[in-house]
Amino acid sequence: MVDATRGAVVRFPAIGCRYFQQGRCLYEELLNPGLHTAWRCLVLARWEAVYDDFLDRAENFGLTEAELGVLWHKRFERLAEESVPCPDVCAGDGESMPECRHLLADICLLRLPECAGQCERFRLRENV
Ligand code: SF4
Ligand code: SF4
Repeated sequence: MVDATRGAVVRFPAIGCRYFQQGRCLYEELLNPGLHTAWRCLVLARWEAVYDDFLDRAENFGLTEAELGVLWHKRFERLAEESVPCPDVCAGDGESMPECRHLLADICLLRLPECAGQCERFRLRENV
């Protein structure tokens, strides 16, 4: 579509595209899941780093799995109460961890490329 007043090409809205989520494009992520680590949720990445550190330290004490589970549970409770290391967190429906409406599995939708309108990869959602 061409904007007659400016002569610029204007793309059709991509809301019905199966890759469209909150104005972002999921195509690359679905093609290579997990490849772009920069798209991961900052909070989940932080929790994962803390968990790895916890496991490294725990190894030195020769604890059983059950003891590890109890310790990690307590550590995670403290961790979850700490301030969230993300300025963009936005309370969602309470079903995700962390609770954020931009979270999709372990991906942050805000970090994905923006969709600029219908492109050659546009595919209609099956339930539209
Ligand atoms: S905005 Fe939400 S999903 Fe994105 S990094 Fe922050 S907490 Fe994670
Ligand atoms: S129209 Fe293109 S850029 Fe937009 S969401 Fe679909 S595939 Fe991605």
